[in-house]
Amino acid sequence: MNSVSSSSLDYRRASRHFQRENTVIETRGIVIGGDKIVVMAGPCSVESSCQINELALFIKSTKASVLRGGAFKPRSSPYSFRGLGEEGLKMLAQAREMTGLPIVTEVMSPDQVPLVAAYSDILQIGARNMQNFPLLCAVGATQKIVLLKRGMGNTIKELLMAAEYILDAGNTQVMLCERGIRTFETMTRHTFDINAIPVLKDLTHLPVIADPSHAIGNAQYVSSIARAAIAAGADGILVEVHMNPSMALSDGDQSLAPEAFCLLMRDVEKIAHAIDRPL
Ligand code: PEP
Ligand code: MN
Repeated sequence: MNSVSSSSLDYRRASRHFQRENTVIETRGIVIGGDKIVVMAGPCSVESSCQINELALFIKSTKASVLRGGAFKPRSSPYSFRGLGEEGLKMLAQAREMTGLPIVTEVMSPDQVPLVAAYSDILQIGARNMQNFPLLCAVGATQKIVLLKRGMGNTIKELLMAAEYILDAGNTQVMLCERGIRTFETMTRHTFDINAIPVLKDLTHLPVIADPSHAIGNAQYVSSIARAAIAAGADGILVEVHMNPSMALSDGDQSLAPEAFCLLMRDVEKIAHAIDRPL
């Protein structure tokens, strides 16, 4: 571990110097940040009741344990599908009722926090909002679990300081997510920063999750990056899955079809065993 520096004082509550033991988070019997690798999976966006229910039943039939799905979608173009809003949250809650799977979904602004918190188990802060400080303070004022994604143009230290805002506001249930950063490379959507996994595990006690889907942006390569992230020490993965990716309303190119997801789960289990971490 690095020695205490004035730099780590900027993220003191998140730092391993201030808490040596891993933060372990629990929701509906699912433990995140413990020995077990956690797989969170689901569509980029909730599209309909039928879509999310069918997918939730499929996810439930695998060893994945958290259902993801966006109802409020940050889209680069205002003309792209921006999510079903509260209707989408209701559909997610219904899918949870049916399967028992806890749900993770994005909250985009401070005024949305009470609404999204009322339906979800884990509040996702997206890459584009990593330094939305009023939003960090607003989720920090709740006792909801937060999945904080690294901004595509942000350093590891900036991610830790963003987490610090949430911790400093009184919410200790925070996990971090590496989802790819912007580099000069254009063959892939972003560049997955594999370095971030061991570095974060060293610098902070907070659970570290990898999102290979948004990092690479192409379903063909998602599993390779997911496997690498687990081998590198991630506590879990967040993966986009769709029953029919070519029909997805967002991020279809990077969404795994059910068969590909099953193959990934088989590989994840093998790698987890190889590093003494059950699935
Ligand atoms: C998402 O999870 O669908 C998403 C928009 O992620 P990110 O914020 O990492 O782009
Ligand atoms: Mn997406």
